[in-house]
Amino acid sequence: MSTGKLKIDLAALVANWRALDAQTGPTVETAAVVKANGYGCGAGRVARALAQAGARRFFVATAEEGVEIRQALGPGPEVCIFSGHMAGDTDMIHDLVLTPMLNSLAQLTRHFEALPGAPFGIQLDTGMNRLGMEVAEWAAVRDIALSQNPTLVMSHLACADEPDHSANEAQLQNFRAMTEGITAPRSLSATGGILLPKEYHFNLTRPGIGLYGGAPFEAAKPVVSLSLPVIQTRELEEGEAVGYGCTWVAEAPSKLATVSGGYADGLIRAMSNNTVLWFGDTPCPLVGRVSMDLITVDITHLTERPDALDILCPAQTVDDLATAAGTIGYEILTSLGSRYTRRYVEAGS
Ligand SMILES: *Cc1c(COP(=O)(O)O)cnc(C)c1O
Repeated sequence: MSTGKLKIDLAALVANWRALDAQTGPTVETAAVVKANGYGCGAGRVARALAQAGARRFFVATAEEGVEIRQALGPGPEVCIFSGHMAGDTDMIHDLVLTPMLNSLAQLTRHFEALPGAPFGIQLDTGMNRLGMEVAEWAAVRDIALSQNPTLVMSHLACADEPDHSANEAQLQNFRAMTEGITAPRSLSATGGILLPKEYHFNLTRPGIGLYGGAPFEAAKPVVSLSLPVIQTRELEEGEAVGYGCTWVAEAPSKLATVSGGYADGLIRAMSNNTVLWFGDTPCPLVGRVSMDLITVDITHLTERPDALDILCPAQTVDDLATAAGTIGYEILTSLGSRYTRRYVEAGS
């Protein structure tokens, strides 16, 4: 076996979904965001485990992703598309019964003309300036949109992982003003917003990262572990250099492990000389540059030759690894490579 072993704990995933659900009141529905291949964990497997646990609404970024989720889940659960109804998506939206979150007057017109009576939601921009209708646009279409019974009216917070950020309160006020008096279900919060006071929860929450064990949901159980096989070990003399650019030089006689996995597998190059792998409880520094398929690890201090080293494990979470490399858990997860052997721990087991 020469590729890394990625273990995905669906029981932990389901536990995280339940824990996030328990953070909000009994009348607040908890959906699940499974975009980007379920944050790298495998969208179909993740969605099926969460549907079995009771999730009834799923969100993805694009219609193509929605197709995969519908095929994994079968009829029943609502599959919502953040990018809305894009030109060329009409057949997918119709045939697979997807619910686009309409982001503009143009999308609304396209949807109502192409698929009259088909389900849809509305995405509003309350200050992030990324997706959704702005105040004036929404004012112009609000009555006609609401007359067609959207399944959801939603917006997204820009700074929910910073509870004291003033943008949260401002977006809350904007969302309230834009949705006052409507009867359609409303949604403002992803993982970060779930951890804010209950005024942010409305009728439905849309957690993503927290399900997969990432910050800002501190209580999350880790979902992903990654173990990388050692291909070769070698002895270095003092002064010998390692890897592209010779960026690490042995200061003393050293032992080195060459490990399968590189930036093509999501071990981003910023991890060069900048993170550790683990042999059980013992940290082993990654030395030299990350290359496409390989990393090199200093194992001088180990008393045995390891068959594999762990990069995601109880000692090192997704966020630990992200922080060392100057990024966020989201990027680590969604970069998890397709070459890894994915093994699932079933939710029921
Ligand atoms: C990605 C995304 C989410 C999920 O966010 P997390 O921070 O991962 O919980 C929810 N809503 C929208 C609009 C998103 O783009």
